Amino acid sequence: MAAAQGTCRFCGQQILVEDGEGMTEPQRDECATLHCECDDAKVYQEAALRRDTAKRRVDELFGEGAGEHRQPDEVIREIKSAVDLICDKKAKNMTLTIRTGLKCRIMQMAKDKIKVVREMSDTDSFEQ
Ligand SMILES: [Zn+2]
Repeated sequence: MAAAQGTCRFCGQQILVEDGEGMTEPQRDECATLHCECDDAKVYQEAALRRDTAKRRVDELFGEGAGEHRQPDEVIREIKSAVDLICDKKAKNMTLTIRTGLKCRIMQMAKDKIKVVREMSDTDSFEQ
């Protein structure tokens, strides 16, 4: 696939996107924005990176990397949408109770950092 020009959404600079020919225009522009060096693009890139990192953390804690704590895909999807809500600043923190004694907490920290926590307690082992 050949490279094609994309446009930074913030400064309008044209940037060559690798394999850009096979992408739609919004995809190319997204790619260009993720590689532009203007200030606004850098802020956007940091936010995108935080979102990616938080979602990778979800996979580590509840997805493929979680071993015995692995949850069904539907649950992972819900947790990741919660991450999106926090990243989009539509929520400050969210807690999903997966089952008694297993919770996922997603929080927005200082400097817009996102924290994903797997909370476990032994309380359920005392029931029944
Ligand atoms: Zn730019």
